[in-house]
Parts: sequence; structure tokens; C-alpha cells
Amino acid sequence: MDFSFTPEEERFREELRAFLAGQLPPDWADREFVGEIRPEERAELARFMNRALADKKWLAMAWPKEYGGLASPHIQQAIFTDETAYNRMPGGGGTGVSWVGPAIMQFGNEEQRKLYLPRIANGDDTWSALYTEPGSGSDLASLQTRAVRDGDEYVINGTKIFAAGAQEASMGWLAARTDPHAAKHRGISNLIVPMDAPGITVRPMESMDGGKTLNEVFFENVRVSTENLVGRENRGWYQVMTTLDFERSGVSAYSNARRNIERLVEAAKDEASLIKNNPAARYELADRWIELQVGYNVAYRVPQLQEQGLIPNHEASVSKLYGSELTQRVATTGMHLLGAASQLAPGSPYARLGGAFSQAYLEAVSATIAAGTSEVQRNIIAQRGLGLPRG
Ligand SMILES: Cc1cc2nc3c(=O)[nH]c(=O)nc-3n(C[C@H](O)[C@H](O)[C@H](O)COP(=O)(O)OP(=O)(O)OC[C@H]3O[C@@H](n4cnc5c(N)ncnc54)[C@H](O)[C@@H]3O)c2cc1C
Repeated sequence: MDFSFTPEEERFREELRAFLAGQLPPDWADREFVGEIRPEERAELARFMNRALADKKWLAMAWPKEYGGLASPHIQQAIFTDETAYNRMPGGGGTGVSWVGPAIMQFGNEEQRKLYLPRIANGDDTWSALYTEPGSGSDLASLQTRAVRDGDEYVINGTKIFAAGAQEASMGWLAARTDPHAAKHRGISNLIVPMDAPGITVRPMESMDGGKTLNEVFFENVRVSTENLVGRENRGWYQVMTTLDFERSGVSAYSNARRNIERLVEAAKDEASLIKNNPAARYELADRWIELQVGYNVAYRVPQLQEQGLIPNHEASVSKLYGSELTQRVATTGMHLLGAASQLAPGSPYARLGGAFSQAYLEAVSATIAAGTSEVQRNIIAQRGLGLPRG
């Protein structure tokens, strides 16, 4: 297996780096690192970046040209995600590009592709995935939100939770039960829901790291056209499983780990007492660096599969599992290296590295829960990757 990038891929990475250096404020990544950015400032820059990226058709570059892409190789799209995440760029294609678009391309009809895909590629719509419910997370097939057919409309009632980005999304990608009598995996459908439809209420939830990007979403007699059904009615479960594979394939966990390990190495070089006080942190950093190289190879295997027309499955779970657990290990290594003061939050005069690692440590907790927990990923790898019987 060849692990190197082609000259063309390297050229694209250089072009992208130069573009980002020209567009992002020079101190952006540093200010993001220490939590100095206000949400409004981030949202404004996200809009600006999305405009600039859409003009270059880079937001969804791997998509076919007729849907707003450049038909670029999937590896190139992964390089794009890698570099934009490393530079902590706000915006980018998000759920629309990495998750909903590929699902519409695969399961939608031609009208839906023509209607929704160019709007994602152009940065006009942002999407939120509406799957999880208060009683249905890992066991997603038990979801209770109902979509009842009434003429040429569906009437939706129920509650979703942990919907990332729903507070600002224009569109929702919903999984709802359309046949309550079928076996639980066989009665679910995917519907497209405009988030401003009457009857939808979005309530932000504060997470333990202080973020307010997760939401509860309440549906009360929300009506959408039957034209918003994507794929076949009651086949939604199988479609959801495929779209989760798209989401889990992301390289960005490794890009963030790369940035954080580099910060720690810089700090250790600048201040000799850090290693002197915590000699074991030297070995930990070496381990994290090795794990990062392994992880990158795992992550880039996913777009390689996509390039061959294959849908990544357990391979995507390997990347997600390893990347999210590496995120946590890097944060822990940061706490060990920086010592007791690493626990101080951004803003504290005695905080180390601006308090960034106390924040990174809190944020890292959810990495092994979002998009399916580590236990769920291990189940997938055991069953579908290794062919082991169910536990
Ligand atoms: C940051 C973040 C972003 C998210 N974004 C979204 C989003 O945009 N849209 C959306 O719909 N959802 C989103 N989620 C929800 C996420 O998908 C669920 O939290 C996740 O699937 C786990 O479900 P749960 O929280 O109900 O935990 P539970 O399913 O109740 O799990 C509790 C514990 O039991 C374990 N467990 C459960 N079943 C098994 C099993 N069969 N074998 C072994 N162990 C098991 C789990 O691993 C976990 O440790 C997000 C969550 C987070 C934290």
C-alpha cells in the first residue's frame, strides 16, 4: 500500500494553505486555541469563509460538477478538511457536505439532488442531523418521533436531542417513524425539514465545556410535503446507517490532535521545567506523535475507499474510534505536561497556555459519544470488520 500523497495532492495542499493564510486573520488559530473568540465573531468569519470557498467551488469539491462540485478526488476533499480543521477555520461544509449531501446523492431522486445539493455546495444552507431522542441514542432504531401521512403531507410530532448546529441551521435531516407496526428497524424514514417550518422549536443546551451548539428540537404538528421524503418510505434505518458512515470517516480529529501536540512540544521546548517536573510527559508526547501518524493513515484510507466507489463502513468506525480516543489522550497528556495549573480555565491569570488544555480536556469528553459511542464503534468493528458473532 502506498501511503504517500501524489505531487498533485501535495500541490493542492500548498495552494489551500496559501489561501487560508490569505483569508484567515493571522492570529485566528491562536485566539481560537485559548477560547478568545466570541460566537458572533466566529459566525461572521464562517459566513465570509464559506462565501470565499463557495466561489472557488471548494466546499463540496468531490461532488459532481452538476451539483456544485469540481468532481475532485475524495482524497483532495479529505486534505481540505484536514487543513481547514488544523487552522481552526470556522464554517466549511459541515453536516451538509459530509453527511446529508452524500445521502441525498445516493438515495434522493434527481429533483431533490438538483434542489438541495447546489445550495449546500454554495454555502446557502446549513443542516442539522435530527436523529437522537431522549430515549434513543445508541439504540437509534427505537426512535419515537412520528411522521404520519396525511394526503400529500407528513405530520411530524416528537422530540430530538443533541442536534448539533440546529440553533442556526436552515435545514433539518430527520429520521422519523412512519410505520409504528413494523419491526423497529423497518418503520423509519428520512425526511427533509426546513427548520423554520411552523411547529418547530429549537432550544439550545449548554454542554460541560460551556458550548451552546447542541439543541433540543421539538416538533408539534409540523407539516412537510411527501416530496421531502428521501429514498423509500420505511427504509430510512438503512439509509441512516450509511450516512453515519460518511460522518464517521472524518480526518479532523487528527488535524486537531496534530495542532495540540505541536503546541505541547513548543511549550516543552520553551520551558525546560515542564519536562523536568514531569519526565514521563516526554514519553507520552512521543507516544501521541506515533499514534497521530498511525491515525492519519487510518483516516486517509477512508477517502481511498470512496475513490474506488466503495462505501466505508467498519473502516470509518476504526478512524472515528481511534481519532476520538486519541483526542482524549492528547488532552490528558497536555494536563500531565502542564501540571496542576493546566486545570485553570481561560481567563485565569495563572492558566497555562491560556487555559487551552483545560478547555480541550472538557471538550474531549464528548468525542467518544458524538456520532456513536466507542462501545458502538467496537461492536461494528467486531461484527462487520472481524465477522465475530454478536455479544
Ligand atoms: C457533541 C455531540 C454531538 C452530537 N451531535 C448529534 C447530532 O448532530 N445529531 C444527533 O441526532 N445526535 C447527536 N449526538 C447524539 C449522539 O449520537 C448520542 O449521544 C450517542 O449516539 C449516544 O447516545 P446516548 O447519549 O443516548 O447514550 P446511550 O445510548 O444511552 O448510551 C449510554 C452508555 O451505554 C453504552 N451502550 C449503549 N448501548 C450499548 C451496546 N449495545 N453495547 C455496549 N454499550 C452500549 C454506550 O456506549 C454509553 O456508554 C451528539 C452527541 C454529542 C455528545
